[in-house]
Amino acid sequence: MRRNIIKDILPAKEPLLNTRYRTISVSNPLFKGNELKYVTKCIKTGWVSSLGGYVEEFENKFSRYCEARYGISCSSGTTALHLALASLGIGKDDEVIIPTFTMISTANAVTYQGAVPVLIDSEENTFNIDPEKIEEKITKKTKAIIAVHIYGHPADMDKILKISKKYNLYVIEDAAEAHGAEYKGKRAGGLGDVGCFSFYGNKIITTGEGGMLVTNNRRIKEKAGYLRDLAFSKERHFWHKELGFNYRMSNLQAAVGLAQLERIDVLIRIKRNNAKLYDTLLRDIRGIILPKEENYAKNVYWMYAILVEDSFGISKDELRKRLARRGIETRNFFIPIHLQPIYFKICKGQFPVAEELCKKGLYLPSGFNLKKNEIKFIAKTIREAAR
Ligand SMILES: *Cc1c(COP(=O)(O)O)cnc(C)c1O
Repeated sequence: MRRNIIKDILPAKEPLLNTRYRTISVSNPLFKGNELKYVTKCIKTGWVSSLGGYVEEFENKFSRYCEARYGISCSSGTTALHLALASLGIGKDDEVIIPTFTMISTANAVTYQGAVPVLIDSEENTFNIDPEKIEEKITKKTKAIIAVHIYGHPADMDKILKISKKYNLYVIEDAAEAHGAEYKGKRAGGLGDVGCFSFYGNKIITTGEGGMLVTNNRRIKEKAGYLRDLAFSKERHFWHKELGFNYRMSNLQAAVGLAQLERIDVLIRIKRNNAKLYDTLLRDIRGIILPKEENYAKNVYWMYAILVEDSFGISKDELRKRLARRGIETRNFFIPIHLQPIYFKICKGQFPVAEELCKKGLYLPSGFNLKKNEIKFIAKTIREAAR
């Protein structure tokens, strides 16, 4: 029974991308600033690991950008989340509330610490964790809430922060997709106790692989920095009183990150302009639901995410196939955590919104190199597929 339901929701196998056309990929990075110059300096000076200056400079400037006091860089968004939980002392049998509609990293970070992810369904409009459904899942074991700002749209933080105060819980923001997004005029990542970012190649800014925590709390900053660096003791080298990790970012990565950060306003403007053009061209197509921007939010449209309703005439899988035939790459939405083979048994419950998103959602090419006429071609292809 359950198996049939899952089969009905799971996306079809990836459609074959037609490469006879100039393919339009879902995302690509843009290196038009000082990336090469700064990386060259690392090579010339020999500072290629985590010492050499760029790491600290990137941490300072990125945390300031997020309106947070401290930045602790690390090796990925996943390790940022793991470090955040470890630094907050979350461990065995603790419970951490997360949305089921998210990337696997959010859940895995909880599991790495021996804690248990407790899942919440999404809001229909923003796809983010539904604050109205959080309280009923809080128990004596609950220690933290992770709010994920899905596809660049911030979660409704005031409601989440209010619940966290009432029950004395930590709030972690998974802002891996939301660099520069704003909630009521404040930047994502600096709103909770810790904000976690990814600088993977498809994110708003990239370091190749990489991540960062931002926080206003000095204790968390020191603990995260210590655990990131194998928990080397300060008073005696090669002396370890705690189990640490090597989650350091390299100077080479930070060099790229710094150059990317210098142009982040331009990069976000490109994403928002792409979204605006898609909105205009797709608005009147029946059965296509466009991404939202709530009154409280500045959406950075990390990916331009749409839903394909029954009234469109063909399914999301069929639409993806038709787009692929024209060389247009797309992606399915996340497959919710409760449907993942590694979490079936741990995370049970009813999550109708997340399942609907998984069934109907896809994102369109959203790269920084995307041309206006490519967006027009994509919109036209979608329009022609409508019945
Ligand atoms: C990309 C992403 C991560 C993980 O980041 P990595 O750098 O790939 O480890 C975590 N959470 C969300 C929501 C993401 O989109």
